[in-house]
Order: sequence, then C-alpha cells, then structure tokens
Amino acid sequence: MSAEVTIFTRIMAGEIPADIVYEDDDCICINDIQPQAPTHVLIIPRKPIPRLVDASAEDKVLLGSLMLKVGDIARTLGVGDAFRVCINNGEQAGQTVFHLHIHLLAGKAFTEGSLSMQ
Ligand code: 5GP
Repeated sequence: MSAEVTIFTRIMAGEIPADIVYEDDDCICINDIQPQAPTHVLIIPRKPIPRLVDASAEDKVLLGSLMLKVGDIARTLGVGDAFRVCINNGEQAGQTVFHLHIHLLAGKAFTEGSLSMQ
C-alpha cells in the first residue's frame, strides 16, 4: 500500500490541532480523540508507513525506537507498570487511519479477551 495524506499527516503538518503529548524528529504522540481508556495515546512515526505490514528492513531502527518510546511515554504518563499496546493492521483488523500508529492504553483493567478495543 502506498502512503497517502491522512489525518495524522495533517496533524504533524500543524494543519489540524491535536493534543500533543510528546514529539521528536521521528515521531509524534497525541491523545486519541475518542479515548477507549483513561489514558489512550497514539504514537505515530513521522514517516508515513501506511500499515505495519508495509514497513521494510530499512524501518528496523525506527520500529525498534518506537517500541522504546512506548515505554518512555508510558512512564512519563505515570502508567509504566500497566498498559496495553495495539497496532491495527488493515481495515478488517479495525485500522481506520492508514498511517502506522501504536495505541497505548492504560488506566483500566484489561481482562483476558478484551482485545476488541480500538
Ligand atoms: P485505528 O482505528 O486506525 O487503529 O486508529 C485510529 C485512531 O485515530 C482512532 O482511535 C481514532 O479515535 C483516532 N483519531 C482519528 N482521527 C483523529 C483526530 O483527528 N485526532 C486524534 N487525536 N485522533 C484521531
């Protein structure tokens, strides 16, 4: 899948407002507009990779660094001991914005089988 302009591209360009939690040269982290948990942020690489499956070997360092940032951001938000991460890949898996992003959710009990959240 090729990269197209998405809502996240427009947020990163400053065209659409968002509640920015963290940003650096590689990624931006924003509060989800429709939170599914008391803490629900999206960690979005600046590089517009549409889906996880569209990442390639050249994205290895970027993907690793995003995972480390998940932990850093969770700690900064005070939820470092209990959080869930989710990446939806493809429409049938619930992906609605085709710019790779990691959901970080925390602040509620995630019981086994509750993987149906966004
Ligand atoms: P997906 O369903 O693609 O895995 O997740 C997309 C997420 O982006 C959803 O949780 C949705 O609420 C969030 N989202 C969609 N549009 C906006 C927006 O304009 N601003 C913010 N902050 N989040 C958005």
